[in-house]
Amino acid sequence: MSGAAVPEGARVVLATRNQGKVRELRALLAAALPELDVETAVVDAGAVDAPDVVEDGVTFEENALKKARQVAAHTGLVAVADDSGLAVDVLGGAPGIFSARWAGRHGDDAANLRLLLDQLADVPDEHRGATFVCAAALAVPGGPEHVELGRLEGTLLREPVGEGGFGYDPILRPAGQTRSTAQLSPEEKNAISHRGQAFDALLPHLVAALTPAS
Ligand code: IMP
Repeated sequence: MSGAAVPEGARVVLATRNQGKVRELRALLAAALPELDVETAVVDAGAVDAPDVVEDGVTFEENALKKARQVAAHTGLVAVADDSGLAVDVLGGAPGIFSARWAGRHGDDAANLRLLLDQLADVPDEHRGATFVCAAALAVPGGPEHVELGRLEGTLLREPVGEGGFGYDPILRPAGQTRSTAQLSPEEKNAISHRGQAFDALLPHLVAALTPAS
């Protein structure tokens, strides 16, 4: 362990500074472990001053595990991370791990979405399949690692629709839905999303890591 300053009572560190993800995971943990005081026990990367992780893996799983592993080593705490993106069928799975920087600048959601729509302008509706993918990873210092994958398949629209969500949400209509993911409520999206599924699968491992063996 590096001797990082860890807030008192902290037991899980989320390898992200994204407060949306922090809120989501705290809610999941509170439901799974009612005796855990999640406000104190679950902290984010900012609270432990975790260094930024270079995402140089070539799969979502590798990048998620790398983030979890580095933050676990930095803090000595159980660490959780995710990595996600959009895989477009006719692009052979791109933008994939490059989703957040497809147009060149990291995190420019509007430019990423516009570039992708322009690239696909001539692709007919029957070939506009795409899948949101999320890898959720857990690293226990000196203990096991786990990574779980979640997927949400759908069709790409021709123009953005809806105000909710983030990233490519306004152009992905999930299979079996009439609305884009940007038109779903946060609860509706979480119930079917790649992220919701990946964290649901990871949760039993996280609960086991936090529950002392009897
Ligand atoms: P990250 O996992 O937060 O690094 O996200 C990677 C990128 O994938 C984001 O910047 C978005 O462009 C895209 N992405 C991942 N998950 C979603 C989602 O649920 N909706 C829309 N875009 C997403």
